[in-house]
Parts: sequence; C-alpha cells; structure tokens
Amino acid sequence: MAYKITDECISCGACEAECPVSCISAGDDVYVIDADSCIDCGNCANVCPVGAPQGE
Ligand code: SF4
Ligand code: SF4
Repeated sequence: MAYKITDECISCGACEAECPVSCISAGDDVYVIDADSCIDCGNCANVCPVGAPQGE
C-alpha cells in the first residue's frame, strides 16, 4: 500500500515538503513517490492542487 502520483501532476513541488518520510521527489515528467517508504498518511493528496496523488 502506497500513494502514487498520476500524470495529472503539474510538478509544483508542494507535496515534497509535506511528506513526513521524505519519500517524494521530482521525476522526469511528474513527481514520484518511493512506495517502499510511503506510510499512507495522505498529506500529499491533501496539499496537491490537482489531486494527483492517489491512495489505494
Ligand atoms: Fe508521503 Fe504521506 Fe504522501 Fe506517502 S501518503 S507519499 S508518506 S505524504
Ligand atoms: Fe505534483 Fe501535486 Fe505534488 Fe504538485 S503537489 S508536485 S501537482 S503531486
């Protein structure tokens, strides 16, 4: 179980600072979440302006 950032991401960077385990980083096209580190807190989804992070 981990959140995943969809193609809706506009690479604003807002989620990166809100992740308590620092598992979000800028990828080639969109920001990406390290699934092994994500603790499913939902912070990224809460701050994202376009709803790109999706939980399972
Ligand atoms: Fe980080 Fe929480 Fe988002 Fe997982 S759900 S990537 S732990 S902010
Ligand atoms: Fe992408 Fe949303 Fe994160 Fe901004 S807050 S980098 S749009 S996932």
